[in-house]
Amino acid sequence: MSNKEQKKIMILGGDGFCGWPTSLHLSNLGHDVVIVDNLSRRNIDNELECQSLTPIQPIGTRLKVWKDVSGQSIKFYNINIANDYELLLDLVKTEQPDVIVHFAEQRSAPYSMKSAKHKRYTVDNNLNATNNVLSAIVDSGLDVHLVHLGTMGVYGYGTAGMKIPEGYLDIEVPTETGERIQQQILYPANPGSIYHMTKTQDQLFFHFYNKNDGIRITDLHQGIVWGTNTRETMLDERLINRFDYDGDYGTVLNRFLMQAAIGYPLTVHGTGGQMRAFIHIQDTVRCIQLAIENPPSKGDRVMIFNQMTETHKVRDLAELVARLTGTEIAYVHNPRKEAAENELHAKHELFLERGLNPTTLAEGVLLEVTDVAKRYAHRADISKIPATSTWTKEQQVGVPDRNAGY
Ligand code: NAD
Repeated sequence: MSNKEQKKIMILGGDGFCGWPTSLHLSNLGHDVVIVDNLSRRNIDNELECQSLTPIQPIGTRLKVWKDVSGQSIKFYNINIANDYELLLDLVKTEQPDVIVHFAEQRSAPYSMKSAKHKRYTVDNNLNATNNVLSAIVDSGLDVHLVHLGTMGVYGYGTAGMKIPEGYLDIEVPTETGERIQQQILYPANPGSIYHMTKTQDQLFFHFYNKNDGIRITDLHQGIVWGTNTRETMLDERLINRFDYDGDYGTVLNRFLMQAAIGYPLTVHGTGGQMRAFIHIQDTVRCIQLAIENPPSKGDRVMIFNQMTETHKVRDLAELVARLTGTEIAYVHNPRKEAAENELHAKHELFLERGLNPTTLAEGVLLEVTDVAKRYAHRADISKIPATSTWTKEQQVGVPDRNAGY
């Protein structure tokens, strides 16, 4: 890579499931990477008395091993970006990043619904984090490109038979004089949890700061991430990525993979008729690279990509994993408040046009079971698999649900 293309990239949340492999991928490409993380995700593991299936190393070890393996240095700052505004602003002014990638939010829907305390934490953390980043970019006076990890969940899960566009919906409305005018609006938000609600609010922050201050922003509406490792995290076992399988943080497909590895029935919510969007972690890091390489120009509106490669119904995924591994399926009560069946179809041409060559579920699933889930199955605490969060108070009266979920 020539020096001209080399960028200073600040990764907020760079110790997390998506942030760590992204930091290594961008560092490997020759970019100058700086990680900011308050390690709150590791503290939540302590709170839930649960840990990653894979043996993740402390951040200091991770960075030292990366330096030994690649020769590249990554700086690390422990800052709470939701609370420590002055520290964040000073860091932006000192480091002068070309790009900030923002992963630093509480990202589990079940965790956000556990109690009033968890709802309030998720709202405080996520909304203040996003507002502080945007405000620090304005206060620094720098022309920083912000890349944010949003979620397909902002669209809600029913699509009325249409393919969800990438962020903006074409509408036609009547005027007072009877003419009809065409407009594009942000696709109407329809969050399904407090966590998803914070992500829909993030969209309005981006819309406002882009309009008011001209900040260049790319918002990536990401599907559920599956898989564990990327080319860089596989270079040394001490670089391994986290793999959550517990009832709050385990995303649905990774949970099935781990359940298959230990012969625990694959727990499907309700009928399993919920359709979800998916992407492999290797494609996540590549999409972020593509978003950085294709920034919006000054004056452009917020650029929105649907960062997903496949959609599947949960029961079809369970059947695929059951077929490949011989594990049984257990249909259990759904702790979420959502329709039993839904369709979700979304456009995702923008990344394909920019050169993404996706990893498909059909080719990657079995490898993941054998290389990761089976290998570390001895670390699993099966008492942590059942989901204990429920969406409404009425549900709390019933038998605790055994289904984890994203
Ligand atoms: P994660 O919890 O593994 O990582 C988030 C990181 O941010 C953690 O290391 C945490 O310590 C840090 N963090 C949180 N709040 C912070 C704060 N106030 N200050 C500093 N650091 C803070 O989550 P992830 O799975 O890597 O998700 C990253 C982003 O991607 C999230 O915003 C999430 O909404 C989005 N996303 C994830 C998925 C998925 O399947 N994992 C799907 C769609 C979207």
